[in-house]
Amino acid sequence: MPPMISPQAAIVILRRQHPDALMCVQCARLLATRPESYRSSKLTTVERETYVCAECRQALEEIERDAEARCENLVLARAARGRQKNSDAGRSSSVGEISREVSERIKSDADLPSGFSDARTPAQDAAPVKVHRGGRPRKYHTEKERRQAGRGYSRAYRLRRKEIALA
Ligand SMILES: [Zn+2]
Repeated sequence: MPPMISPQAAIVILRRQHPDALMCVQCARLLATRPESYRSSKLTTVERETYVCAECRQALEEIERDAEARCENLVLARAARGRQKNSDAGRSSSVGEISREVSERIKSDADLPSGFSDARTPAQDAAPVKVHRGGRPRKYHTEKERRQAGRGYSRAYRLRRKEIALA
């Protein structure tokens, strides 16, 4: 076993001993000492001087994959946190939106016939909260959905009032 030296130091020594050698610049593995051995590979001088052996290439790929996976996990975790924050913010802002919408609808629908009823519940009427990747989540995807949900809420409100009045 040669004394433990860094691959860089080993490369310097090997290059001095075998100026035409093909070696791995990562681990200093000596792949060939004579140019005849790697001539068929048609390596350029630069390629020869920056050659990385298959093992090191694989190791590097694994490191990159790991880094990528870590990065992806980080992005996912960040996105999840962002979604959490956004949906909280979205909830509080859409609550304000709904109550504004409801009060507007109540004002404009106040003169509707009292027998008016609808089997649909506000839960069915309100569009489910779909979370968008990136950007601010929207409670309703279209203006129509939003209006329908508003109508649902005001209907429920009217029905509740009617129930209270009848009780
Ligand atoms: Zn190597």
